[in-house]
Amino acid sequence: MIIIIKPNTEKARVTEFITDLEKTPGLQTHLVEGLHTTIIGLVGDTSKVDIDQLRTNDIVEEVKRVQEPYKNANRKFHPDDTIVDIGGIKIGGGHFQVISGPCSVECEEQICEIATRVRESGSTMLRGGAFKPRTSPYAFQGLKAEGIDLLLEAKKKTGLPIVSEVMDASHLPLFENVDVIQVGARNMQNFELLKELGHIRKPILLKRGLANTIEEMLMSAEYIMAGGNSNVILCERGIRTFETATRNTFDVSAIPVLKRLSHLPVVADPSHAGGINWLVEPLALAAVAAGADGLMIEVHNNPAKALSDGKQSLTPDEFDGVMKKIKALLAVDGRVIG
Ligand code: PEP
Ligand code: MN
Repeated sequence: MIIIIKPNTEKARVTEFITDLEKTPGLQTHLVEGLHTTIIGLVGDTSKVDIDQLRTNDIVEEVKRVQEPYKNANRKFHPDDTIVDIGGIKIGGGHFQVISGPCSVECEEQICEIATRVRESGSTMLRGGAFKPRTSPYAFQGLKAEGIDLLLEAKKKTGLPIVSEVMDASHLPLFENVDVIQVGARNMQNFELLKELGHIRKPILLKRGLANTIEEMLMSAEYIMAGGNSNVILCERGIRTFETATRNTFDVSAIPVLKRLSHLPVVADPSHAGGINWLVEPLALAAVAAGADGLMIEVHNNPAKALSDGKQSLTPDEFDGVMKKIKALLAVDGRVIG
């Protein structure tokens, strides 16, 4: 971190400021006094330094970060890819997985039929929302505890590990047997929830917020990891832009950028990114080509009657077709699902 001191600042004030900075364990300062400019280089673990607080000091002209504000999620401090293990199913570090299933769990027949079909097509995990973050309070809110029970039923039938979204930390006891806990886009910056998820050891699928930068997403991962849970999977699911032709704008560049900045596995969700059924295939293939470690795809046995996100859901047959293309594209790179 570089702190630029205002011109003509008394030397005593600079000395006093440096003494203060050095009170933080692990931080060292280097003073550079030029003819017109004085700068202080701050080195060590600067992730806990409050840059805005430094800026409020009246002798400070400007503060510039030269190091990212996240440490645990940073590839600089952890050069090897993290591999998250979900009951023997590995993701990251060359392991590619496909998570698929309906937006919402609706009934036993629905979730079990979809689970059976997606497994036959090569999906390695089952998704399904039991607690749904809906824009309208009048829209279907999910089956809640019953939805989790139905997912466990489908897991028993198919052997597929299950992924489901938590919206409130008080619901966590219900997720005891859920294999991967999803943090939805709308909760990416629910910091109290992230802190709670840092205290457990279950894998967390962290979706990018609708209007959040890559750095903000990595800071949210940092919240979970700072609590001791390093099993974090990042998910690019499209962001809000001025474009209205698609539900969101799929930020394909976020995939290689995240993988460069962080060692965590990165998956992409082409269903929420595009919001339209026929867009899922091209976006999924783009994500694979961009180096994603996995995909999350919504599949419904009767999209026209789905209680949420039917428009973007693939039928099991369509999903099967997309999976064939995903496998073929992975093979170009010598990769396989699993
Ligand atoms: C979902 O996965 O169904 C969902 C609500 O996703 P997002 O949080 O990305 O909108
Ligand atoms: Mn959905």
